[in-house]
Amino acid sequence: MTGYSQSREALDMDVTKVGRPVSLVRKPAVYVQRRVAVLLAFLFVSATLATGLLVYFNSSQAEGTSKKTLDLTVSTPLQETGVGGVVPQETGVGAGGVVPQETGVGDGVVLQETGVGGVVLQETGVGGVVLQETGVGAGGVVPQETGVGGVVPQETGVGGVVPQETGVGGVVVPQETGVGGVVPQETGVGGVVLQETGVGGVVVPQETGVGDGVVLQETGVGGVVVLQEKGVGGVVVPQETGVGGVVVPPSREEVNIRLPRALKPLHYMVKLQPFINGNFSIQGFVQVRMVALQATSNLTLHIADIITKNDTIKLVPVDDPEGPGIGITQNLYDNERQFYIALLETELVEGKQYVLSMQFTGYLNDQLKGFYRSTYKDQDGNDRWIAVSQFEPTDARRAFPCFDEPSMKAEFEIYLARESSMNAISNMPKVESFPVEGQEGWMWDHFNTSVPMSTYLVAFVVSDFVHMDSQDNDHVLFRVWSRESAIDQASYALQTGPEVLTFFENYFSIPFPLPKQDMIAIPDFSAGAMENWGLITYRETDMLLNPVASGASSMEFVTVVVAHELAHQWFGNLVTPKWWTDIWLNEGFATYVGTLGVNHIGPTWQSMEQFVSGDLQDVLALDCLQSSHPISVPVGHPDEINQIFDSISYSKGASIIRMMSNFLTEATFRKGLTNYLSNLAYGNAEQDDLWQFLSEAGHEEATLPADLTVKMVMDTWTLQMGYPVVKVVRNGTLATLTQERFLLIKNENWTDSHDYKWWIPLTYTTQENPNFESTPPDVWMKDSESQIMISSLPSQEHWVIFNVQETGFYRVNYDDDNWNLLIKQLNTNHTLIHVVNRAQIIDDALDLAQAGQLSYNTALNVNVYLRNETEYVPWESALSNLEYLEMMFTRSAGYGALKSYLLAILTPLYDSVGFEDNLNDPLLEQYKRVEALSWACNLDYQDCVHNSVSLFQQWMDNPANRSIISPNLMTTVCCTAIAAGGEEEWNFAWNQYLTSNVGAEKNKLLVALGCSREIWILSRYLDMSFTEDSGIRKQDAHTVFGSVARNDVGRDLAWNYVREEWEKISNYFGSFTTLGDLVKTVAYEFNTKQEKYELELFREEHAGELETAKRAVDQAIERTTNNIAWMENYYDVIVLWLHDNGYHKMIKHF
Ligand SMILES: [Zn+2]
Repeated sequence: MTGYSQSREALDMDVTKVGRPVSLVRKPAVYVQRRVAVLLAFLFVSATLATGLLVYFNSSQAEGTSKKTLDLTVSTPLQETGVGGVVPQETGVGAGGVVPQETGVGDGVVLQETGVGGVVLQETGVGGVVLQETGVGAGGVVPQETGVGGVVPQETGVGGVVPQETGVGGVVVPQETGVGGVVPQETGVGGVVLQETGVGGVVVPQETGVGDGVVLQETGVGGVVVLQEKGVGGVVVPQETGVGGVVVPPSREEVNIRLPRALKPLHYMVKLQPFINGNFSIQGFVQVRMVALQATSNLTLHIADIITKNDTIKLVPVDDPEGPGIGITQNLYDNERQFYIALLETELVEGKQYVLSMQFTGYLNDQLKGFYRSTYKDQDGNDRWIAVSQFEPTDARRAFPCFDEPSMKAEFEIYLARESSMNAISNMPKVESFPVEGQEGWMWDHFNTSVPMSTYLVAFVVSDFVHMDSQDNDHVLFRVWSRESAIDQASYALQTGPEVLTFFENYFSIPFPLPKQDMIAIPDFSAGAMENWGLITYRETDMLLNPVASGASSMEFVTVVVAHELAHQWFGNLVTPKWWTDIWLNEGFATYVGTLGVNHIGPTWQSMEQFVSGDLQDVLALDCLQSSHPISVPVGHPDEINQIFDSISYSKGASIIRMMSNFLTEATFRKGLTNYLSNLAYGNAEQDDLWQFLSEAGHEEATLPADLTVKMVMDTWTLQMGYPVVKVVRNGTLATLTQERFLLIKNENWTDSHDYKWWIPLTYTTQENPNFESTPPDVWMKDSESQIMISSLPSQEHWVIFNVQETGFYRVNYDDDNWNLLIKQLNTNHTLIHVVNRAQIIDDALDLAQAGQLSYNTALNVNVYLRNETEYVPWESALSNLEYLEMMFTRSAGYGALKSYLLAILTPLYDSVGFEDNLNDPLLEQYKRVEALSWACNLDYQDCVHNSVSLFQQWMDNPANRSIISPNLMTTVCCTAIAAGGEEEWNFAWNQYLTSNVGAEKNKLLVALGCSREIWILSRYLDMSFTEDSGIRKQDAHTVFGSVARNDVGRDLAWNYVREEWEKISNYFGSFTTLGDLVKTVAYEFNTKQEKYELELFREEHAGELETAKRAVDQAIERTTNNIAWMENYYDVIVLWLHDNGYHKMIKHF
């Protein structure tokens, strides 16, 4: 997966990483663009793990009477008349169990005065629930005379048959005629529903829960339902659980969330009919053939947000498909683990194969996970809907019941039903289409059976999109898809994709195994892209490119994402981690190998060098915190799994793989990789498997000492967090080297007795004989050594540089003499030092200074040479570090002096690139311009500001001419002009945003709109970002918020907004996770005790309700604490250095 992230501390890959100036304009834009915006977006995935809205059905067992299989069918009505729980067509509001909020009453529902919960049926005898007066949390049921509804509520009014002490409850029991909660006969009204045998839904609201059939607990009990935005009516959507059967109460202990190993799936047949233009329900059928690896009397698989039709559940032996089958005594739903469990009458026999089949009802949610719905406007302004899947890591279970673990590989045979005007695609090519029986205008598409693969790689898209084809690769049909009006922007991906695919086939020496590869741009997408085998899905901005409107960085960025996803087709899809603990193998490799692919496409882009200033240095800055985590980390719960799709997995993973490739040499590394992939193809692996194949290759090729294994080395990098700083102290021709974990801040209270030591591949070169090309290790420092000596170095008048091309994942510190020699070299002839090592020296120096291990005087002296630096990569390292100083100083008296310093080193760069953009310049020349202008404008450099305002004015005079402002400079120019302007400028940019058809351009405008200095405009903008139909997509709310929060004028406003609109925001996203991230964003620059106090107060006031946001708030407080300490320790030191070096412009009395 490619996360949507551009931040240093953000969690996910691509976007930024690559360190490219996605757009610019320092503040707020840069921050937003590079650091923050996306920080959040990726979290969207986990953020939307909604609190449970569960349908809580009782089983007949609960009544203690019947043992027969429950039938929990909840039918989805597809008839026009259909009202009812699941369904409502256009008219459909408020039907059924589900009840519309505002109106509060639904069909078939009767509310008592208390108005809570429950469902009641009228004469029609539908449904079955009546509420008592006390009625809260009831949902009990009271049968009418007609005898419908089964259960009678206790006096306490709590749940009918079910209520536990915890007050959960609600049950409905339908009689034969029974209708029940949700459901819809033709006449159908009624909430949840039951068919004949039916057991029914019911919902039980807890205190908070109001509304029929709706319940929102976190504990996940109860409830049918869920309402999506207005108007949809009684759609029923269970979150997280299945319905029917008995719900297993949540445990209070740690649970093992892994599936039992007794059954192994072999082949799935999945048939889905998504009602995209109807009520968003999905009619589903799944048939899975399994082998019993051991005898078992229960069948357990994953299920979430799905309502099973229990009378259709069948389990038969493969050798007796027509027989009576294996009886199911009870259906259980374990909401916590998202399990459906069938208890069996007879044991399954080891070695035998069985087939499980069932019908079910699912739901096209708007949470960007599972099988979900996305919308866009066509050329005529009409809303169009599509259905698309996103399963990684744990959401295939929301689309169909399955063994949803990566090692449970099986073949998939998919059928998708679509309206004739639409098309459907999946992992494999379509083999046939035929009409859906009895439903005019509907067709089934049947796709070829897949190769064995993990559930998280299964994909479906049903849309009215169009495609373009390429036969550039001789055995793989390559297609790109998008909405019709954007298809011309897919040309670049169509051209690049096959080229990269062919490159990887050669690199891995393994052909791509599928006959086709589709790539599709989705209007609403949570991650950046997803590598589903044969059907890669992308955010529009990650695949589409308009050469005129997108800009240089977008071109490289699209290449990066395409290469990353295609690399996954081998690393991840062909050989898959056994469990999510090793997800770094997927993501680290895709990131590193993807960079090789980018380098192939754009040999002049210096992608391998950019990797250092982007990925490697970015993650060094993260992994130096005590709160970091090892690359390889045990995970269980889906929340935990989602959390490790972070830059430790992506960027640190890629960085240590790069280190490995360099210490083994690339040829040996590739040989080991090819062996690993071909030996384990279609299977699963752990990191130890990879270590073994690489060790074998290393020993065969003699690039690895015979007494050393890759496992010995790499375990020290993957099983422990952090990395070392190697301190080099010279004495004559001798040097003493020590290793110690590098920590930015040592928290006194931290109790960690682990002895951090690494196997370090040491490389070095000297002034006497500079050689920056040799990267195999000169010396190994063992994990048992905290100190070693190196002899035969040149005399002390000459510098040494360790960590050649920064191929090792460590920092280097030197004695003062060596630092001074390096500073001298940089100032006399910096080109003698390799460009990557210049970037390394800058980055190490500033980070060592921030950690108190090197004086800021030395670090700032290192950076003075930048006025002569013309290469992009060292600049990138410098600016991303200096950004911290700029942030900390921005509200202080010393800011003027810092500005003078920054402008002094930047002005030569600004002058050399010029304000005038040229899209034909080499890519890195364009990047330098983007950076220089963004910083200059943010620092109020008048030439930059004037030019921006004037260019923007030209655009206002010719709104239709989108080529007036180069896409590279769009963010900087618009941000600067909007900041300098007023309502008129803002409204103009907003209109351009609304009418733009180019995702990248829209993003830049969204960021720039947050640059206004008018408080009321910013306030309105914040409001819009958390409001449906305001023109800002939910997925972009973070970007807008981040932009306002990074604006000096907007920060306090944003902070107040979060505090005051806490509830509104969490409702909007359906979780608290997003809120936590907003807090982190707004507190990013906090560095005063007052701000820390406000954060602590906030945490205290919301102590009981922070939930998933708590960690983020804690982190914001920790960061603020560190910022305060930094100000106390270094502010004066830096101000003094600025003064001593002639950068005055301050009010302070130095
Ligand atoms: Zn990935």
